[in-house]
Amino acid sequence: MDQFMTDEQRMVRDTARRLSEDVIAPAAARIDRQDAFPRDIYMALAELGLFGVALPEEAGGAGLNAQTACLVMEEIARGSGAVGNAFAIPVEAVLFLNHHGSEQHKALIPGLLDGSVISATAVTEPDCGSDVAAMTTTARRDGDDYVISGSKAWVTFGQIADVVIVFAKTDPAAGAKGISCILVETDRDGVYRGKSEELLGMHGLAECVITFDSVRVPAGNLIGPEGGAFKMAMENFNFSRLMMSSMALGMAQAGMEDAIAYAHDRKQFGKPIFEHQAIQFMIADMAKDIAAARLLIQHAARLYDAGQPIALEAAQAKLFTTDMAQVHISNALQIHGGNGYSQEYRVERLFRDVRLSQIYEGTNQIQRMIIARQVGKKYA
Ligand SMILES: Cc1cc2nc3c(=O)[nH]c(=O)nc-3n(C[C@H](O)[C@H](O)[C@H](O)COP(=O)(O)OP(=O)(O)OC[C@H]3O[C@@H](n4cnc5c(N)ncnc54)[C@H](O)[C@@H]3O)c2cc1C
Repeated sequence: MDQFMTDEQRMVRDTARRLSEDVIAPAAARIDRQDAFPRDIYMALAELGLFGVALPEEAGGAGLNAQTACLVMEEIARGSGAVGNAFAIPVEAVLFLNHHGSEQHKALIPGLLDGSVISATAVTEPDCGSDVAAMTTTARRDGDDYVISGSKAWVTFGQIADVVIVFAKTDPAAGAKGISCILVETDRDGVYRGKSEELLGMHGLAECVITFDSVRVPAGNLIGPEGGAFKMAMENFNFSRLMMSSMALGMAQAGMEDAIAYAHDRKQFGKPIFEHQAIQFMIADMAKDIAAARLLIQHAARLYDAGQPIALEAAQAKLFTTDMAQVHISNALQIHGGNGYSQEYRVERLFRDVRLSQIYEGTNQIQRMIIARQVGKKYA
């Protein structure tokens, strides 16, 4: 990609790469073991101005674009998938608020950029995941307020967030067209957070259930038009899927690098295992799919930056990248033999962390449905 980058993009990518190699990668095992939010690393990302990488300069960002955000994400996730996941939250939140928010909402952006304010986004519920329109959390208008009632599940940063961007029904009879988006400060009466979920991987991100028990917020906390949030969420997924694709790509790259280093080092049958063709073929397939994924992501990001619709391209990038990352990280583990199954080696953590990428931001079954719908329309 280097020859196609501007000097500024290269500089930002290199900054992220240095932080990832010098600070994030060395901390990744500790973050995984302790399963505690790595505030020190989060603040290091904020101090470098990386949360505003895709935000226009006039809004306080770096004035770059989605393409650059993807490059930065790949570097960060190469050091730690969990830190990559953490990085995505403020990057997406500032873009969302800048795009849809009022001046009151935009006042949160500087705090999100410098790390002093932490946000979370709550769409999923205990009984509603892929079928977003089936959510049951309500936001009832009462005079100058909304009163929010319901439970949200799996909220990343739920335990530590200062504000939550909550999707709730203002008109339960209207299905998807009755969903609105409301900012809820977590210190309000009636906000209850569950215990941190104990997860297979991606440790340190403080996921929990949040229950809203008749939480009263001013009507000014509504983001975007009443009833317009389903469309806002779907549009937002286009960008967030690129971020998740880049996160899986960074992890796949790390897995390939580890597999190659190990295969050169480890000798069996009198030669480095790299010289056995079965190992070379696994590595060749990794290299080929990683390169293809990078192109899919960058293509979709370029279209996004040009203001084009990318529902198809984002779904293709997400599906291809996360599936290939899962397969090739598993093969990287295989190349490590018994050592791959040990926590002594990074590939064991990559194997656990990458699994999530096939599940959230729309499961890969949902990505296939989107792709089929899009090409079905196009070539009918
Ligand atoms: C670690 C973690 C962090 C998360 N962070 C957040 C967050 O910050 N905010 C948030 O709102 N959510 C978050 N989520 C939730 C995540 O987005 C959902 O888990 C995801 O959308 C899937 O929903 P579900 O788990 O309810 O699965 P379900 O929707 O119940 O799906 C179960 C299975 O059925 C399949 N399926 C469902 N419908 C269909 C269909 N029509 N056709 C074929 N197959 C189908 C799915 O692909 C899946 O395999 C997080 C989840 C995890 C695990």
